[in-house]
Amino acid sequence: MSYDKNNIFAKILRGDIPCKKVFENDYALAFWDINPQAPTHVLVIPKGAYVSFDDFSMHADAEQIAGFIKAAGHVARELGVTQDGFRLISNCGVNGGQEVPHFHLHILAGRRLGKMVQAA
Ligand code: 5GP
Repeated sequence: MSYDKNNIFAKILRGDIPCKKVFENDYALAFWDINPQAPTHVLVIPKGAYVSFDDFSMHADAEQIAGFIKAAGHVARELGVTQDGFRLISNCGVNGGQEVPHFHLHILAGRRLGKMVQAA
């Protein structure tokens, strides 16, 4: 799947549409999800153009991957969710339920999140 440079997160990265920013550095941008599924629901996206986790893990270089993961950990600590715990999700592709085709991590926290996967 090729990268759609007009996807909503690409527009947020370009500043074409606003977001409630939590953190930004050379590797990542983190912002509040517009439709939160938990009291804390923050998205962390890489600065580079990667469709999904599959694309990112295959094509990003080691510096980009390390920088991105470090940024996500920093965001979780800044949000204050590491002590009580949190969930890190990356939906990938159709079966994963991915809606926005720019790789992102969801940081979910603030309540007991229940089972990891809905029953079939
Ligand atoms: P996915 O299903 O692709 O893993 O998650 C996409 C997430 O992006 C959803 O949780 C959705 O609420 C969020 N989202 C979609 N459009 C926007 C937007 O314009 N701004 C923000 N902040 N979040 C968005």
